[in-house]
Amino acid sequence: MQTPWESLANEHILGIAPYEPGKPIEELERELGIQWAIKLASNENPLSPSDRVQKAIAAALPNLNRYPDGSAFYLRQALAKRHNAAPEQIVLGNGSNELIELIVRAFLRPGEEAIIPHPSFVVYPMIVQAAGGIRVVITLKDYRLDLEAMARAITPLTKLVFIANPNNPTATIVTAAEVERFVAGIPPTVIVVFDEAYIEFAMGPDFPDSLAYVRQGRKVFVLRTFSKAASLAGLRVGYGIAQADAMALLHRVRQPFNVNSLAQVAALAALEDDGHILECVRMNEAGRHFLYDEFTALGIKYVLSRANFILVDVGRSAHDVYQRLLREGVIVRPMTSFGMETALRITVGTPEENRRLIKALRKVLEEVRSA
Ligand SMILES: *Cc1c(COP(=O)(O)O)cnc(C)c1O
Repeated sequence: MQTPWESLANEHILGIAPYEPGKPIEELERELGIQWAIKLASNENPLSPSDRVQKAIAAALPNLNRYPDGSAFYLRQALAKRHNAAPEQIVLGNGSNELIELIVRAFLRPGEEAIIPHPSFVVYPMIVQAAGGIRVVITLKDYRLDLEAMARAITPLTKLVFIANPNNPTATIVTAAEVERFVAGIPPTVIVVFDEAYIEFAMGPDFPDSLAYVRQGRKVFVLRTFSKAASLAGLRVGYGIAQADAMALLHRVRQPFNVNSLAQVAALAALEDDGHILECVRMNEAGRHFLYDEFTALGIKYVLSRANFILVDVGRSAHDVYQRLLREGVIVRPMTSFGMETALRITVGTPEENRRLIKALRKVLEEVRSA
């Protein structure tokens, strides 16, 4: 039965399962009567924004009575310089999530198809569905995007292909050679979206240079974000890079002030602070290796990660382990909603947080193994 409001709704949205945010850390602490809960659930950077960035934000506070610069002039200049592109090739968004939405709104007609890997970022199917698009879901192979199967799924109705690289929640990559082969076979009527939210953690000689495809004039968008390596998830700022005429279309559908002024100054300052990103990448790398060793000692299987999170298989109900970890003040992400009943996605934290996680996990596994 539809409610009176549902019968008025755009029917495309009725089938969408709303994104389930975790509970705030403060609320968990209140329930448990503790003050030291840790959140390893949303792939956030465990380090605060750098001093330089915090100072830039503080300096911009007195001007909050003004609207932001709707063209994000300075930030686009800086990004263009960084990526050896023109400012006209950059569109900013309220997180890179907004770019996904803008691309779908600008290009996907109702009834057209978007090829989406699974399990992957939950936002792709939500936005495609809301636009009345058809989701063509291609299952991963050995925890990695199956680019060959995705290429085979292209039909005359295909408009978009989403490639999360590294993929969330598996933290695996598709390589430069694989992407090269894939892109070579894509018809010019199909747009490929490379979502590279975790690229800073994934860099290596095997990682694809997706911007080269932009320079070649291919139908691709490259999405990046300040939410992960730059420690700015709370401010919501991301961007896309593509050909200027593609971007002109996104400008038509975006809100005039979609990126707020604090986000703009913070992102600009973050771009001048590669030291912070380097520190985060190094800490993450050390954290991954610490966790691999500890998971092995605990008899937990994991997928080798090229990002700031690790997919683990706890070999029993992940939801149960998740609930028990919560009681220890450790928040992780169960993969139950992806149909992975024994998997958890765990964000790499600070060394201290990683030790806390392992201690809690050891306790919880002893509980359930002796139960
Ligand atoms: C975290 C994440 C993003 C970043 O989203 P923002 O809106 O920029 O915070 C994008 N794509 C994937 C796959 C992610 O996991």
